[in-house]
Amino acid sequence: MNVKSIMVIGAGQMGSGIAQVCAQAGYSVLLNDLKAEFVERGLGVIKKNLSRQVEKERMTAEEMETVFGNVTASTDLQDAKNVDLIIEAAVENKEIKTKIFSQLDEIAPEHAILASNTSSLPITEIAAATNRPEKVIGMHFMNPVPVMKLVEIIRGLATADEVYQTIEDITKTLKKVPVEVNDFPGFVSNRVLMPMINEAVYTLYEGVASKEAIDEVMKLGMNHPMGPLTLADFIGLDTCLYIMETLHEGFGDDKYRPCPLLRKYVKAGWLGKKTGRGFYVYE
Ligand code: NAD
Repeated sequence: MNVKSIMVIGAGQMGSGIAQVCAQAGYSVLLNDLKAEFVERGLGVIKKNLSRQVEKERMTAEEMETVFGNVTASTDLQDAKNVDLIIEAAVENKEIKTKIFSQLDEIAPEHAILASNTSSLPITEIAAATNRPEKVIGMHFMNPVPVMKLVEIIRGLATADEVYQTIEDITKTLKKVPVEVNDFPGFVSNRVLMPMINEAVYTLYEGVASKEAIDEVMKLGMNHPMGPLTLADFIGLDTCLYIMETLHEGFGDDKYRPCPLLRKYVKAGWLGKKTGRGFYVYE
């Protein structure tokens, strides 16, 4: 299938990054969010990232204008009526995502593929909210999107082979590396990563060590580029909690129970870097 136009739903950390890499690959991109100010914020992030590339002489100012010109703001889901592919990157919440998918199914053209950047929610269940489950697929980018090479591609139970192939090909045009994964809670990335982050939060909660010490052990001892608590702040503590709840519910195994301290931080609105405070404080 020849994909030319892509709509990205959600202009937050992930959606803005996805829109940027799609625009850089020459696709015509619609960046959608609930309010104009949210889309503006996402566009601001894209502009800042591209300007940095111009400063580093990886891109000319003209190229930056062309890339930026490939992105159009949208606050109306009806804009999906003219696109070939939709990549949903709204908040990690099953009710919100299934509602978006059932609306998109009504609006988007018949040939359009509906992809979700969900970190952990079942693609099969999201697909069941539509009348085109064979055209629904997971396209799980990593954060920060412009930097990270991996895209986990998740086949739902009904995903058609040609849809998988189209998404794999598109991922390569974005200069990313696709890895095929089946639909189980957390897929591969978050099934392995999140229990480690949750355990780091328990380690803090139980007073085994300070947050700095926990991060230092994992950085210097395990050669991780950043400690798990810093990483949790970067991902967003609300997203981490939601993923743990999905693993807990999906497997019915208490080894995935979210740490009460993680819950407490989320309830306090300390969501990490995006709100200026999580385990650490950000300027
Ligand atoms: P975020 O909070 O930064 O952004 C979410 C955006 O979605 C917000 O701007 C919000 O206004 C918007 N939104 C909410 N409901 C909407 C709707 N109905 N229509 C349009 N927009 C809507 O969150 P994020 O970190 O960008 O995460 C987005 C998705 O990407 C989640 O599913 C998350 O699990 C997944 N993800 C996150 C990471 C990460 O490290 N943060 C990594 C991979 C995948």
